[in-house]
Amino acid sequence: MPRCEFSRKVRAEIILRATNTAGIVTCEGCGLVLGKKPFEVDHTLPEALRDHTRRAPLTAADGKLLGKACCHAPKTADDIRRIRKADRQRDKFTRAMKPKSSLSNSRLKKRMDGTVVDRQTGETLR
Ligand SMILES: [Zn+2]
Repeated sequence: MPRCEFSRKVRAEIILRATNTAGIVTCEGCGLVLGKKPFEVDHTLPEALRDHTRRAPLTAADGKLLGKACCHAPKTADDIRRIRKADRQRDKFTRAMKPKSSLSNSRLKKRMDGTVVDRQTGETLR
């Protein structure tokens, strides 16, 4: 699913909307004065929740200007945490799929009495 991004025109519109009368960019999330601080134009609705059947182009109403240090950062950090958690769960799963010991995977089998037998020939080695 291709991710819809804001056109330059719409981004400009959002930035203009977030710019106060003194010409200073402010965060639309918390109202913090950003000035020259970095910001992101964020989707108000997550991409997954948008109605893709309409294929309506994104407008300024679909986005919010958020300061990177205040409102955009926590969301991103949360995204990273979620991705890392998914990674951990996958690792846990793949580790669970590995054989418990290399011995069970080898040709040799150790019996309860300590003798080692060859699985293929059934010969006792020691
Ligand atoms: Zn903010």
